[in-house]
Amino acid sequence: MTLVRTLIWFALAGIAMLAAVWLAERPGTVTVVFRGWRLDTSLGVLLVAVVVLILLGMALWLLYRWIVGAPSALLEGWGDSRRRKGYRELTQGLAAVAAGDGGEAQRHARRAEQLLSEPPLTLLLSAQAAQLNGDREGADRAFKAMLEDDEMAFLGLRGLIAQSLRDGNQQRALDYAQRAFALRPQTPWVVHSLFDMQAQTGQWKAAQETLETGMRKKVVTANRGRTLRALLLVERSRIAEHDGKDSDAMAFAREAFHLAPERIAVASRLAELQIKTGDGRRAMKTLERTWSLAPHPDLAELYLKAADENDPLKRVGIMRKLAAQKPDDMESNLALAQAALDAGLWGEARRHLDAAGGGNPSVRVCRLMAEVEERAQSDQAKVHEWLTRAALAPADKAWRCAACHAHHESWRSVCESCGAFGTLHWRAPGTYGQVLPPEARPALGMTTMNIVSGG
Ligand SMILES: [Zn+2]
Repeated sequence: MTLVRTLIWFALAGIAMLAAVWLAERPGTVTVVFRGWRLDTSLGVLLVAVVVLILLGMALWLLYRWIVGAPSALLEGWGDSRRRKGYRELTQGLAAVAAGDGGEAQRHARRAEQLLSEPPLTLLLSAQAAQLNGDREGADRAFKAMLEDDEMAFLGLRGLIAQSLRDGNQQRALDYAQRAFALRPQTPWVVHSLFDMQAQTGQWKAAQETLETGMRKKVVTANRGRTLRALLLVERSRIAEHDGKDSDAMAFAREAFHLAPERIAVASRLAELQIKTGDGRRAMKTLERTWSLAPHPDLAELYLKAADENDPLKRVGIMRKLAAQKPDDMESNLALAQAALDAGLWGEARRHLDAAGGGNPSVRVCRLMAEVEERAQSDQAKVHEWLTRAALAPADKAWRCAACHAHHESWRSVCESCGAFGTLHWRAPGTYGQVLPPEARPALGMTTMNIVSGG
């Protein structure tokens, strides 16, 4: 590039020199007469004078441009440095937020706000700083201001949901969650938060709609969605029964069972309704199916109720039929042991308890053993021995929340300690490593609290 330019310059200089020589060889005169003035000169001098005039004109023009343009260039430079300072404040503010220093963050936020005329950027920092400082109103104001901006609205809603939950204002949180859901139904936390909130407030039908959208948007896996839908239908069936709509109640329960026969709550609901309508046989079939997938003491109790048999010995026979669906399971052995104990069949009760306990009998097994010894021969030494073992025995399966690990006496669809829906499972403690489904999430109470501040 430079070479070409140099060559061009040489060529131009050569042409100029040739022109000068040509002019010098051919002297001519020019005479100018103007209002009584007369100028005699050579052609060469006149040409030089014209070139000088042109150069002078150009120099004046450049000078004019420089003078006129200076202030705006100056202003531009000033604005640049202002923006740079603003961004530096913003960065320092964000760093302070990350470090958990609320006061420092707020100072930087204020300065960044003055320096930058970009509210979306500074609003987020202001909101976070206010939250760190426990300034609820300040955070609220900043989040609400974000709603004005299309790009920041979603983030603002997220902050407002977390804020409302922290204040314990569930209705407000739900309103904001609905707005966020309308804005971005494909975002996982929005679907999960809205779903849990709707379930917590007993809006089963709305929760089902949210869930179905979540499944369509692939935010909820098909398998998880199927189970959740079944559990929602259990709740809807209960409401329908309460409202006297028995046929609706039955329809919901049947649909739920069709979706998730392995869930104890689902089978219990259907069996309860079948027993209520006098259809004990069908209830027994329902319970047998679920026993083969997931045995549970509640199912055994319902099974005996469905069989409507009061003779203790015959009840042992009935329980054998249910246990046969999953013969080696601990629950099957425990159910048989309990029935044998009630019928006074001590030997059979001991045998099933031995099988249920394996090498390391649980609390429930030890207690039943103690009961057998007490009732069989009132052997106080053995009773005492089993009760002592019970105190040290491994814990039994129980209703435990997969999200927060809380223990519950009975099944419920919404965990009372963390608010998650459909997370209670019949599990031994410490077994969540293997059984927690991959999509299981920490419950609402924990996730949304951490949305903005991490605090
Ligand atoms: Zn929980």
